[in-house]
Amino acid sequence: MLASLAGATHSTLELVFSGHTPGGYGLCLGPFDNLPAPFSENTYAFIGPRVDANLRTLAHEIGHALDNGPDSPNPLYILYPADDTYSDTSVNRSRRLTPQTIVRSRTLRPAGNLTATGNRLLTTP
Ligand SMILES: [Zn+2]
Repeated sequence: MLASLAGATHSTLELVFSGHTPGGYGLCLGPFDNLPAPFSENTYAFIGPRVDANLRTLAHEIGHALDNGPDSPNPLYILYPADDTYSDTSVNRSRRLTPQTIVRSRTLRPAGNLTATGNRLLTTP
């Protein structure tokens, strides 16, 4: 599957609107997931078919891309990281990141350190 996305680099988030995403509405695969070479430094986000926009699936997957981390249990108003995401039709819920997530997302991940927090998405290819 990733071979068909040839041309991706560590400095881009490859976004695919897919016909199927195993295990949920969306999926992010990045360095944290220990992808095989030559894809190991790249980040890919997949959004499934007919996903309700109120679920903020794309924003959640971008969270994975930025902090290079897994989900964890959090209150419902935390959009990412979250084991479960919920409909977001109210202005006062389900839109927040933790302060720790914001710091991790602004961290430059060292090249080759696939499990470190942060990302290399805005670096020069
Ligand atoms: Zn997630």
